[in-house]
Amino acid sequence: MNAPRLEVDLDKITQNARLLVEELGENGITVTGVTKSCMGSVEVAKAMLRAGVNGLGDARIENIEAMRQQRIAAPIMLIRSPMLSQVERVVRHADISFNTELAVVRRLSAAAQLAERTHGVVLMVELGDLREGILPGDLVNAAREVLRLPNLVLTGIGTNLACHSGVAPDAANMADLSALADELEETLEVKLELVSGGNSANLDWALGAGRKGRVNHLRLGEAILLGRESLHRQPVDGLYTDAIALVAEVIESKIKPSLPWGTLGETAFGEGVTSMDRGDMARVILAIGEQDLDPDGLQPPEGLSILGASSDHLILNSGTHRLQVGGEVRFGVNYSALMRAMTSPFVHKAMVRGIKNKPGAVHSLYNRR
Ligand SMILES: *Cc1c(COP(=O)(O)O)cnc(C)c1O
Repeated sequence: MNAPRLEVDLDKITQNARLLVEELGENGITVTGVTKSCMGSVEVAKAMLRAGVNGLGDARIENIEAMRQQRIAAPIMLIRSPMLSQVERVVRHADISFNTELAVVRRLSAAAQLAERTHGVVLMVELGDLREGILPGDLVNAAREVLRLPNLVLTGIGTNLACHSGVAPDAANMADLSALADELEETLEVKLELVSGGNSANLDWALGAGRKGRVNHLRLGEAILLGRESLHRQPVDGLYTDAIALVAEVIESKIKPSLPWGTLGETAFGEGVTSMDRGDMARVILAIGEQDLDPDGLQPPEGLSILGASSDHLILNSGTHRLQVGGEVRFGVNYSALMRAMTSPFVHKAMVRGIKNKPGAVHSLYNRR
C-alpha cells in the first residue's frame, strides 16, 4: 500500500452520519453533511448521502464543482459567503449559499438571472462568535432586499458559533435565532424553510433536553468524520472516532542521544527543542511532515510520542518499541491534521469499506513490514 496515506473507512462515516441523522431527526433537525475537510471527496459525499443527510455543504466552490463533475446530484450549499469573483460559478453549481453582504447577494441575483436559475440564500446572523454574520438589527432590511431581488429565494437564516471565539451554542443564543426567524416571518410575511443553528459544536445543545425552538437544521462535518462534538472535542456516544487514520512509513530507526550537541540556533520552524537529558533513546523518523499535515493534531499509538516535525520528517520517540525501516505507524487525526493531510497531494487517500471494530474500541496501531 502507498504511504503516507489517510485510511478512510466509508462505512464508519455512513454509520456516524446515520446515527446523527436519526437522533437529530427525532428533535426535528435535518443534517447537511459537510465535505470541506475532505476536499469535497465524492466517496465521502456518497457515504454521507447513503446515511440520509438531506444534502451536502462545502466552503469551496472548487470542491462543489468537483462533486458535480462526478455526478453528485444532491442539493449542495456553499457554506461560506461567495467571493464576488465567483458568483457565476456559485449559482451554476450550488443550490444555496450562505450570505452576509448585500453587494454579494445582488451579484448572485444578476448571475442567477443570466444563468436562468433560482438560487437559495441563507442569511447568516452574528450571534457573538464574531466570525461571519449580519448584526441582528440589520437582518430584516437584508432579508427585504433578498426578497426584492429576482431569481433569489430566501431559504432561511443561520448562525455559526464556536469557530472563531469559541462561543458555545446554548439555550440563549439559539432562542435569539428562533426569535429572529419569527420576527422575519411576521414582518415580511414569508416562510423560512431553514433555521440553521450551527455545526458540530451544537451537538450538546441539539441532542440535549433543553432544546426547543425553531432551529431545524445543522451542518455537520467533524462529528460525522471524527465522531466528536467540536466544543470540547468529546466523543459522541455511539459514534466511531477512528473512521479516519493516518499511516506513515518509517525511514530511519536508531538509538540516539536525547540531547542535541553543538551551538543551538533556530529550528526549521522557528521553535527550540526540549532540553531534558533522558540518555539514549529509540528515535524513529517517518516520511511525512509539516508540508502534509498538522503534526500537533496526530494521536500516536500507545508507547510512542512525537518529538517534533520539519517539512518532510516526523520524529518519534518509540520508547521500548524498536520499529523497522519500512514499517508503518498509524495515527489518529484531529480536524486540523485531517484537513491538511486531505489537501496534500503527497498523502494518498485509501478509501476502505467494512467495519472491523465497535465504536470506542482501539485497534492495531502499527504494522511491521
Ligand atoms: C466548517 C463549517 C461547518 C461544519 O463544521 P464542523 O465543526 O466540521 O461540523 C458548518 N458551518 C459552517 C459555516 C462551516 O464553515
